[in-house]
Amino acid sequence: MKREEQRLIFELSRPGRSGGSLPENDVPEINVNELFSSDYIRKDEPELPEVSELQLIRHYTALSNRNFGVDSGFYPLGSCTMKYNPKVNEGIARMAGFAHIHPYQPESQVQGALQMMYELQDSLAAITGMNTVTLQSAAGAQGEWTGLMIIRAFHEANGDHQRTKVIVPDSAHGTNPASASVAGFDPVTVKTDERGLVDLEHLREVTGPDTAALMLTNPNTLGLFEEDIVEMAEIIHDAGGKLYYDGANSNAIMGKTSPGDMGFDVVHLNLHKTFTGPHGGGGPGSGPVGVKEELVPYLPKPLLVKDGEDYTWNYDRPEAIGRIKPFYGNFGINVRAYAYIRTMGPTGLHQVSENAVLNANYLMKRLEPYYDIPYQQYCKHEFVLSAKRQKKLGVRALDIAKRLLDYGYHPPTIYFPLNVEECMMIEPTETESKETLDEFADAMIAIAKEAEEEPDQVLEAPHETVISRLDETQAARKPILRYEKAKEEQ
Ligand SMILES: *Cc1c(COP(=O)(O)O)cnc(C)c1O
Repeated sequence: MKREEQRLIFELSRPGRSGGSLPENDVPEINVNELFSSDYIRKDEPELPEVSELQLIRHYTALSNRNFGVDSGFYPLGSCTMKYNPKVNEGIARMAGFAHIHPYQPESQVQGALQMMYELQDSLAAITGMNTVTLQSAAGAQGEWTGLMIIRAFHEANGDHQRTKVIVPDSAHGTNPASASVAGFDPVTVKTDERGLVDLEHLREVTGPDTAALMLTNPNTLGLFEEDIVEMAEIIHDAGGKLYYDGANSNAIMGKTSPGDMGFDVVHLNLHKTFTGPHGGGGPGSGPVGVKEELVPYLPKPLLVKDGEDYTWNYDRPEAIGRIKPFYGNFGINVRAYAYIRTMGPTGLHQVSENAVLNANYLMKRLEPYYDIPYQQYCKHEFVLSAKRQKKLGVRALDIAKRLLDYGYHPPTIYFPLNVEECMMIEPTETESKETLDEFADAMIAIAKEAEEEPDQVLEAPHETVISRLDETQAARKPILRYEKAKEEQ
């Protein structure tokens, strides 16, 4: 049977068929009418599908086959890429000593888990060049907010209440200005110049006594290294502001340089991106925050410390911004990141950065004759191209993305960053083979040719997927989340 013909579980249902068997009831039956008001009691039986175990398993397996993940194919979604998910990490995260502990257990019983967290914090501090790291925040955006609250607490402790502005480049990830707002600041945009880097003159203009911080991604979201970073740090520090580093994707810098060396004061990392945590379906994530010495008093509490040979939670932190998440962060993701860092070691992480950058530059060079590359220089772990040339033929970045589905690829990020026309942002990651990169390049080149010779192939894509184009606005605003019988059956 072809995939699209596969019937849904409600259509397979036959009265009385069942996939499970329950033992005879051996406890007294409860009279629900005595326990609940009649408002809460069902009048009719729920309409559940009645199917066999095998039909049920096939239903869910068929649904999972319609999904696309990093385990099924190449997934070059720039910036938010699902990167490497080593299977050895899964085994380690499932070890009883990690998987079966409870956050309310006394510290004396979970010293091993605390040691793991402490060593992870230390490794992340070394990688980022920060003094102290907290693992509490559960995502990149929460890390941004935490870091900005720390900066805010610092300025307030100094009586600097007029520092209300956070400077964010126009190429920044959308969470940056959003986090600045939620933390109570006014985001101010600084422009990108013709090099694709922060416009230094404009940065000088927007920096002043009201500057709380500059939030920066480096390499930036165009995949370019902000080579003026030392000068930028001086401009911000001279004005009394702090530098915030969005380290969601650190694949290009690990073991090469660090935000600490570049002059940053606060950093967040996404352990569910660079450090291999699987984040399919939106979570869970982990967005640790590291700070330089001066800001340590403001880190959230409790802070994990080492007291002699013992690991313990320090709650006695009067200047801390408070607790930002129940318990101590998404522990399982932290275990995976720890396992990854320990298996790679410093030389391995250094190699990761080299491979990530090599792969991105290789792919960029292969595509250069067929697509416009807006910034002509070496990229870091990702690059952007523009479908401007194809747009003249009536084919847009969206169409190319849809056509890639037919070739079996997850499309890259499109229309981001906002400052590149018909933008496609590609991050191949360090783990892909040359063969995979070549096959993807061949597909992109074939699509460029189709755009010239038979544009309808691209404009009407995808042709091979279970469903073709969605009305994305309707899908977001009015999603159909339950099975609905086809019209003629009703
Ligand atoms: C993914 C990403 C974020 C946000 O991280 P979440 O964990 O999704 O909140 C922030 N900045 C950059 C550059 C990112 O790629």
